[in-house]
Amino acid sequence: MSVDAAADLIVIGAGIIGAACAQALAARGLRVLVLDAGLHSATAAGMGHLLVLDDNAAELALSQYSLQRWRELAVHLPEACAYRNNGTLWLAANAEEMAVAEHKFSVLQAQGVACELVAGGALRQREPALREGLAGGLLITGDGILYAPATAQWMLQSPRIEQRQAKVCAVQDNRVCLEDGTWLRADAVVLANGIQATELCPELPIEAKKGHLLITDRYPGSVTHTLVELGYVTSAHNASGPSTACNIQPRPTGQLFIGASRQFGTLDPAVEGWMLARMLKRATEYMPDLAQLNAIRAWTGFRAASPDGLPLVGRHPHHQGLWLAVGHEGLGVTTAPASADLLCAQLFNETPPLAAHAYLPARFLGALAHA
Ligand SMILES: Cc1cc2nc3c(=O)[nH]c(=O)nc-3n(C[C@H](O)[C@H](O)[C@H](O)COP(=O)(O)OP(=O)(O)OC[C@H]3O[C@@H](n4cnc5c(N)ncnc54)[C@H](O)[C@@H]3O)c2cc1C
Repeated sequence: MSVDAAADLIVIGAGIIGAACAQALAARGLRVLVLDAGLHSATAAGMGHLLVLDDNAAELALSQYSLQRWRELAVHLPEACAYRNNGTLWLAANAEEMAVAEHKFSVLQAQGVACELVAGGALRQREPALREGLAGGLLITGDGILYAPATAQWMLQSPRIEQRQAKVCAVQDNRVCLEDGTWLRADAVVLANGIQATELCPELPIEAKKGHLLITDRYPGSVTHTLVELGYVTSAHNASGPSTACNIQPRPTGQLFIGASRQFGTLDPAVEGWMLARMLKRATEYMPDLAQLNAIRAWTGFRAASPDGLPLVGRHPHHQGLWLAVGHEGLGVTTAPASADLLCAQLFNETPPLAAHAYLPARFLGALAHA
């Protein structure tokens, strides 16, 4: 077995998570080799919505910290990354959902997240394309959007980062085997290969969640904020069957991204007409004129979901020198900077910027073998 010392650190996967980790590690002065097989990534398929989510305290802490990091990074991002701090407007269809908005408001405000309740009557002043009769909304002003594939590429632009197109077919602790049989070794290996993580580490509890997306022609000014129905929280995160929720995002080009759908138990990338129709019907229930717009493309992607919806970031408990940054589900673009900071702090044995416990792989994989 030939083993080459490739770099200080090898990162498997050049999606937004691998790229963010590589950038953070290179910033610490390490030489990083990033290996990517060039597969259809979630980063290329996703919406790039940067949002604070509060399904639980750990998700809120991670997304809030990461949003703060994105706002700091924003001044350095080239225009190709299409970052905008346009805010998310959560939509309440009825009094029950308005009560959810009010609860969310009090939770977020208590954590220092800038947000504002919008009464039903004022909603169409903010977003005239919304239908009449909605009960109100909650505006999260610090949320944003970006174009994740360009951002991942930007993150990898460092003289200390070498990118190589190569498929890793095996990982043993701090060594990786490429398809041609070459073994590469480094001080540490970071597994950040999204939905394919289980091909290299079958013990990881990661499941694919399929999503459909659609993009329209250019209609500048038709929508300003990212519009998400409050039912998103229940339909997106708690359902086990197929689910859809209204999610309309204005792109800087004037185009609209329309989502969101979730399906378990399939790895078929085909666009499914029935699911697309269901998703669009949901969106038109909030923005009726959407039905008049031209759609130019629809596609699918797969989110890497863990059982508790939180990512696995940290040391693999059973493999010396192997670190994990996987399982980011539908929030990996948002939480990429936070994941990178958490990983770096653990690798350098520093106090992390937020409590790391809730995201440690050991919560699923058992006790540390090499503590
Ligand atoms: C439809 C949809 C909508 C989404 N919307 C949002 C959103 O609005 N906001 C948000 O925050 N998140 C969103 N997400 C989630 C987000 O896109 C993902 O969490 C994130 O992109 C995951 O990044 P990643 O780097 O872990 O994985 P990926 O982007 O999948 O990258 C993994 C990389 O690993 C490489 N790879 C795989 N196996 C190997 C191997 N054996 N050897 C070498 N390389 C390998 C692949 O080629 C790929 O480039 C969405 C996802 C989907 C599918």
